[in-house]
Amino acid sequence: MVGAPRVVIVGSGFGGLFAAQAFKQENVRVTLVSRTSHHLFQPLLYQVATGILSEGVIAPSTREVLRRQKNARVLLGDVTDIDLAERIVTSELRGSKSTIPYDYLIVAAGAGQSYFGNDAFDSFAPGLKTIDDALELRGRIFGAFEMAEVVTDPAERTRQLTFVVVGGGPTGVEVAGQIAELSRTTLAKDFRSIDPREARVILIEGAPQILGSFGHELSGKAKRELQKLGVEVLTGYKVTDLDAQGVEIEDHAGNRSRVHSACKIWAAGVQASPLAATLAEQSGAEVDRAGRIAVQPDLTLPGHPEVFVVGDMMALDGLPGVAQVAIQGGRHAARSIVTRERTAFTYLDKGSMATIARFSAVASIGRLQLTGFIAWAAWLLVHLMYIIGFKSQFSALVHWVVSFLGRGRAERTTTRQQIAARLALRQVGEAFPPVPQVREQAVD
Ligand SMILES: Cc1cc2nc3c(=O)[nH]c(=O)nc-3n(C[C@H](O)[C@H](O)[C@H](O)COP(=O)(O)OP(=O)(O)OC[C@H]3O[C@@H](n4cnc5c(N)ncnc54)[C@H](O)[C@@H]3O)c2cc1C
Repeated sequence: MVGAPRVVIVGSGFGGLFAAQAFKQENVRVTLVSRTSHHLFQPLLYQVATGILSEGVIAPSTREVLRRQKNARVLLGDVTDIDLAERIVTSELRGSKSTIPYDYLIVAAGAGQSYFGNDAFDSFAPGLKTIDDALELRGRIFGAFEMAEVVTDPAERTRQLTFVVVGGGPTGVEVAGQIAELSRTTLAKDFRSIDPREARVILIEGAPQILGSFGHELSGKAKRELQKLGVEVLTGYKVTDLDAQGVEIEDHAGNRSRVHSACKIWAAGVQASPLAATLAEQSGAEVDRAGRIAVQPDLTLPGHPEVFVVGDMMALDGLPGVAQVAIQGGRHAARSIVTRERTAFTYLDKGSMATIARFSAVASIGRLQLTGFIAWAAWLLVHLMYIIGFKSQFSALVHWVVSFLGRGRAERTTTRQQIAARLALRQVGEAFPPVPQVREQAVD
């Protein structure tokens, strides 16, 4: 192994982890560095937020996943710089700065939420990108019902029971559907002063239809299914303002109105990792409006055949920001490094799916368009297959039986810290908790 090429991978999401695993039998030394100690199955975050799954089921420890892969090691750290000329990655972890040299680099740092220039919205309407986000949202969703039970002012009670989801893509649709199900079935008999079934769930989408990428027919079907559940679907509306009290929206004719809502969820827009800009500056590659870096057809950077960028942070031929693009991109990069051949990346589209409620989903697989129970069963199977590890798969299955057959939610635990920690940390500043002093070390 000594003398084998050093491959550094940034990120433990779909792109990073699947790239690392693709090196299992190869004579390389892999260092995977990520700011989270887990691999996150983002498509199921909404189930953590709405009490169906626990966070452990969708976020196994990366170290555990790779424990049998002797040529791979895992480092926890936030990558703060990449020096393409010196071939060095710099990462930081609570006052420890590490410099990690590489022969080959795969960057798969993903994307975060975009508020389209209105960053202040995020204080009142968290996105859904991380485990922290999902737990915060769980606290806010269940917390709104608790507040409604306590307050006596009817207007405030209505505000607490009004949920606004911004963004009619798969995440927005899934979250809105789940909150509606929660209120109509799971929580229906749990309160004494309020009737949770009276909760309003409003889904706001700027485009003329929700789930635009699924085509007209599936989009219409999804809208009707949501409406059956009691979700108010507002298409052609954009959010013009958002604060603690509610949301201001504007229709296509420019008419503005206000929705009073305590619990708002932002599921619109993505912004690539800032590492894309760092790489673009040094390689001369372009970045698009979402901050994604334009890569060469073989997923490398211009003038840097040793550096690959995969997944949500790269732009190539309009490929969507979905798990399969990241997985296949990560594997392509690994294969290119091992074979030393630089071939164009070809993406195999395996289709898209979105659940609406229990036993109801839409799926578009090639020419096949599925709806209802069949689509939902296909969704369940595919997601079960991609959850990492038998333990997690088994646990997910048990939780799904509880939620979809029994209509219960096994993961309703919420804490005050879940809701307050993000904003509290922002207030005390980046330097919290204090560390003695920055120590620098080179990693071989
Ligand atoms: C709520 C939600 C639902 C989704 N649903 C679907 C779906 O149903 N189907 C589908 O195909 N796709 C879905 N997606 C999209 C899919 O999850 C992404 O396309 C995929 O995760 C992208 O993989 P990635 O490896 O590029 O990035 P990610 O999976 O986001 O991984 C990025 C990794 O980089 C790490 N990282 C970031 N910055 C740094 C840094 N500076 N230093 C070190 N590490 C860093 C992160 O900790 C993380 O480990 C969904 C996404 C979300 C958010």
